[in-house]
This record gives sequence, C-alpha cells and structure tokens, in this order.
Amino acid sequence: MPPPLKNHRPSPLLAVSTNQQLFERAQRVIPGGVNSPVRAFRAVGGTPRFIARAQGAYMWDAEGRRYVDYIGSWGPMILGHGHPAVLEAVQRAVADGLSFGAPTEREIELAEAIVALVPSIEQVRLVSSGTEAAMSAIRLARGATGRSMLIKFEGCYHGHADALLVKAGSGLATFGHPTSAGVPAEVVQHTLVLEYNNLTQLEAAFDAHGAQLACVIIEPIAGNMNFVRASVPFMQRLRELCTRHGALLVMDEVMTGFRVALGGAQSLYGQVIPGFRPDVSVFGKVIGGGMPLAAFGTTRDIMAQLAPLGPVYQAGTLSGNPVATACGLATLREVARPGFHDALAKRTRELVQGLQSAARDAGVPFEADCEGGMFGFFFPREPDQGLPQNYGAVMATDGPRFNRFFHAMLDRGVYLAPALYEAGFVSAAHTEADVQTTVDAARAALAA
Ligand SMILES: *Cc1c(COP(=O)(O)O)cnc(C)c1O
Repeated sequence: MPPPLKNHRPSPLLAVSTNQQLFERAQRVIPGGVNSPVRAFRAVGGTPRFIARAQGAYMWDAEGRRYVDYIGSWGPMILGHGHPAVLEAVQRAVADGLSFGAPTEREIELAEAIVALVPSIEQVRLVSSGTEAAMSAIRLARGATGRSMLIKFEGCYHGHADALLVKAGSGLATFGHPTSAGVPAEVVQHTLVLEYNNLTQLEAAFDAHGAQLACVIIEPIAGNMNFVRASVPFMQRLRELCTRHGALLVMDEVMTGFRVALGGAQSLYGQVIPGFRPDVSVFGKVIGGGMPLAAFGTTRDIMAQLAPLGPVYQAGTLSGNPVATACGLATLREVARPGFHDALAKRTRELVQGLQSAARDAGVPFEADCEGGMFGFFFPREPDQGLPQNYGAVMATDGPRFNRFFHAMLDRGVYLAPALYEAGFVSAAHTEADVQTTVDAARAALAA
C-alpha cells in the first residue's frame, strides 16, 4: 500500500490556481509555458497539468487531483517519488555543500558503481544531461577515430545537440536535413540517417561510407518512438559492420540503462549475441534518480583521448555535482538489489497484459510490448499488424485514437505520456492495485 498521505492537498480556503490559470501565467514568461516542449501537451491538445507534489507512484496537480504516474519524470523515478533512502542521501549531501567545482569521493563511488554494473565500460565521465553525454560521446568517437561521419536512425532521440537534430535526406547517398531551425545544413552534413531495423540500408551505408564512419549511435530499445526494439539480427549485423569498418558502436542507454535490466539493454543483447558489447555507452535518467546527471563511458584507451589526458575537449561546471551524485548513487543501490528488476518487470507485464485484455474486450486494435520497467502501446489502424518496427510505422498508428485515450485516462487519474511516440515507465512503487486501477480506467476509456 502507498504510504498515508500527509495533508499537502491545497486547502479549499486558500486561493488555488487552476492548471489553466497557471498555464496562462506561464505562457507570459516562458515560451509555450514550458521548459521542454512535450510538456505543453501540443501533441494531444488540452491543458498541461501543473504538478504540485509527488509521492510513490502518484503525482498531484495544482488543483489537488491525483494521478497514477507512468512518466516518472521521463524515466529517472524508477523507485517512485520520494523514496526514503534517496531523500535521506540527498538531504545529507545538501547539508555538506551544494557544489565545489573540485573532485569528490562520491564521484568515484558512482563511477565505480557504473563500471561494476556495465562490463563494457572501464571508465566513465559524469555530465549533467543526456544531451551532453550523447554529444560528448560523439565528439569522443570522432576524436578517437579521426573520422567525421556518423550514422543515426530515424526516430531515435539522442538529445538536442546540433549534429543529432537531423532527418533522412532523399536517398542513401545524400546526408540528412536539420529537423530544427538554427541548425546549419553544414553541421549535419556528416550525419547519415537510416531507417531503424532496416538491414538493407545498413549494409548499403557501410558499403558506401564504411571507411569514413566514426560511429553509429543507436537506442537499443527506442523509447523516443514509443517502444521499438532493434531486432537481434539487426543489432548483431550492426556490431559486425562496426567492428569490420573500425567505426565505434555507441549505445544510447539514457532511457534503457538500469531500467530494462540492471546491465541495461546491452546485457539483454549480450545474452543472445555471443560476445556482444557496444564500444561506447551513454547513460542518464535513472543514474541521476531525478537530479541532473548523465554519463558516457567506454574502454580506458578510448577515454584517454579526453581532456585532461588527451586532445578531445569536454568539461562542465556542475559535472559530478555532489547532490546529484548522492541521489544517483542512492538510486543505483536500490536498483542493484537482487530481484529488483524481476519484480519491476512482473508489474510492468501485468500492466501491459491488462491493457491488452481491455483492448481485446473492447474490440480495439492494440499492440503493446515491455522490457523491465519500460513499456509501449500502439493503436494500429488495422488489426493484426504486429508491433511497429520503425518510425514510419509508429507514426502511421492511429493518432486521434491515442489522443482520445490519453485524455480519457487522464480524466480517470492515470497520467500517460502525452504523445504517441513516447514510452511509458513503471516504478517499483507501483502496486498491483495501481495497475488494476489503471486497467479498470482503460476498460472504461476504451468503452467510451
Ligand atoms: C532523454 C534522452 C536523451 C536526452 O537526455 P536529456 O537529459 O533530456 O538531455 C538522450 N537519449 C535518449 C535515448 C533519451 O531518452
């Protein structure tokens, strides 16, 4: 059972701002009213909920309404909100100082914990966001190989660094186009964008450009196009091609790391592809436990290319921040307990199976998948289409139906990701009863 509620509910005697009032006020001083675009509910329409507090599996909005939270701050809150061990670690760290700009023992501890849990990594550098980590990993790959070109896959998100905000050009021989204004075409001219899970395109790209490729960056389970797994043959071939052509395989595990399994998605591919490991790994979200913290890591040799040892420059005023590292370390300690991921995966499967059965009973075409504490679901336009395998297939699913479902669930107190191209997250604080409440809400929503 969730812990008893302290009385944080806004008193009806106080003047309470509604979500709508806050949204209007926010839009006067913050572009779109938000500090990260997806929060504005543009994809699904309606008024974003302004969150006042969160505890366990729940969030409360400014109007005092409670939601079962399946976003978990987009992944970090794998233990649920306000986990006592994490709060205690953070409070202690705060009392010792907020930031020093000098090394601390806790950074070593966190680096040691990551290195111990991820066998492909010998050294890590800590940064403050996934964007920074992926951007730095690419710079490192380019510096270490002396090459400029890179491959990314359509629908994978690696943060908002210029070179990665790119969509496919008109053909394989052409390079990508920027997906954001303000990114000069020259900046993405070294980035080749391929379809996810498309072996033919992958082979052709390596045939044409293998000797110029610094790296291939991939989300192993793509959570930024809802939930799409890289197929095992695709990942295996990608590994072979990178090795043969001297390109580094960069696995962006910002979302999947410590969430789909203790060793990340790479450990899952390692179970089915003999000797599999990426060259470079990128982490974020869970390793910060809700504080700004991310990391990238690889072998000691490659990491020796980084300043101050080598010529690849990378730095950060708040990198390895003492409060963030305390939060991340306390989170990782809980996540590394025996059986943690088994229990999380079981709860997530219960949710997915419950949603599948609700959709089946309602006669609504529905596909869903999950791994560890991460899940995705789709409303295909036709029945029996199977799970989407790439971005085009995800975006061809029924958007209007997703949006109606999203709002029907929100009205019933279930907070899902407000866009059909985002994954969902279950935390260790979600109980069987929370899942049941969610499935009941889905039955009602799908019937409506
Ligand atoms: C969230 C995410 C990022 C970006 O991380 P930020 O901390 O938002 O900059 C990068 N890659 C993946 C796979 C992500 O899910």
